[in-house]
Amino acid sequence: MERLQKVLAHCGVASRRKSEQMIQEGRVSVNGKRVTELGVKVGSNDQIEVDGVPVYQEQHVYYLFYKPRGVISAVKDDKDRTVVTDYFPSVSERIFPVGRLDYDTSGLLLLTNDGEFANILTHPSHEVPKTYVAKIKGCPTPEELRPLTKGLKIDGRKTAPARYKVISNDHVKKTSVIELVIHEGRNHQVKKMFEMIKFPVIKLKREKMGSLELTGLRPGQYRELSKKEVSQIL
Ligand code: URA
Repeated sequence: MERLQKVLAHCGVASRRKSEQMIQEGRVSVNGKRVTELGVKVGSNDQIEVDGVPVYQEQHVYYLFYKPRGVISAVKDDKDRTVVTDYFPSVSERIFPVGRLDYDTSGLLLLTNDGEFANILTHPSHEVPKTYVAKIKGCPTPEELRPLTKGLKIDGRKTAPARYKVISNDHVKKTSVIELVIHEGRNHQVKKMFEMIKFPVIKLKREKMGSLELTGLRPGQYRELSKKEVSQIL
């Protein structure tokens, strides 16, 4: 449920301020009843009219996308590089990415037109575990990796404890593959955590968010979330 003026603004009727004015002027009705106060909240099934003309409310849509490397997590780019929404040419809803993955990071990214859903997932209090697989330079020992589990000071603030699993070590090429599970979503967090322990990330992929996985998708492909998957988050 969202405030009526916010929904009107979101549907492109007018700015939030102008929509408030329209409500106060008695020009807006919800399910056939005129509304003149600003506190009213509406859901996606409520019938809204302005001056007797129905307002079309976009239904919420939710997609799980396998972002390839070399794609911007945005809806447009001022340098005209490929953005994630370029992969959704047949989707007419105004979707946007929930949080972001770096340009050179691949993996699981959710896209939606539901602002509330996006806020829940990106708010720090909502501790959705995110699983990354990082290829790093070097072959760290357990002692060298331990700070990941204790918390590391990044940009003046300590990270929450993370869990890791060593997937493989290549002592010839001097690289390793490590799975890291974090609960926060700070800027470049995984790269910075490995940078702090002196094992820089060469390649990064997000494999999971909570119980959502990339199973069955190739880079550039997406699928809709099921109702059950959405309701587990909302
Ligand atoms: N951490 C990073 O460093 N990069 C990402 O894209 C995601 C998490």
